[in-house]
Amino acid sequence: MPEGLEAEIYARSARKVIGRRVIAVEVDPLCGDGDQLGTLIGAEVTGVRRHGKHVLVDTNRGALGMHFGMTGRLVVDGAAAIEQLEYGARRDDPSWDRLIVRFDEGEMRVNDPRRFSRHRLDPVLDLGVDLLAPVGMIAAALDGVARRRGPVKGVLLDQRVIGGLGNLCVDEVLFHAGVDPATPMREVTDRDRLAKVIAETMPSMLAAGGSHTGDTGPGHREGDGRCALDGTPLVRSMVAGRATVACPMHQR
Ligand SMILES: [Zn+2]
Repeated sequence: MPEGLEAEIYARSARKVIGRRVIAVEVDPLCGDGDQLGTLIGAEVTGVRRHGKHVLVDTNRGALGMHFGMTGRLVVDGAAAIEQLEYGARRDDPSWDRLIVRFDEGEMRVNDPRRFSRHRLDPVLDLGVDLLAPVGMIAAALDGVARRRGPVKGVLLDQRVIGGLGNLCVDEVLFHAGVDPATPMREVTDRDRLAKVIAETMPSMLAAGGSHTGDTGPGHREGDGRCALDGTPLVRSMVAGRATVACPMHQR
């Protein structure tokens, strides 16, 4: 499932469309409003940004906001930025294209088997500090939610606290911070350490290829996955409504 790290990789791959002019937009009615996005025809792309899990393609007529849902991936000029997403389909079936933006040169499309991707003009995004922000900003964001009673995992998944963290990245962060995902946020006393782990782990996972690359990623989440630090069998549970993997030995 595309998280902020995948969106960052997509945004980087989309930069090549800067300077191009939009000549056609097709969108699946479930994934976007064709009339609204059609107003971009004739617009020139002026920039590409990422906010949390969203990629925004700026034009002189507004920004096309793309959110990739469970299984969407961005394909620019026929090349996928990430060849396969764990949990996602590995084929590039044209019938799964939910958004196609054709330019005077080349095209950009969102291939999305599950059809949960959403594409809007000038989306209003209510997001917290970015997952790739400096450690001090992340620490301040965690201080701001220090009294919450819910599990720390749910707080880290809250896009209004930290924009871009998804299920895999949150499990990985808590694994390396040594924090049980079900711990109430208000009982997480060493928030500075948690912030430091986020600030270190996100860039390293991005460099490794995305949210699936951690010690709690696919391959460790099922079967007889073991802790990379102490060899203890990893435990699966549901926390904050999401499938969760943690080490019962060193995450407390
Ligand atoms: Zn462990």
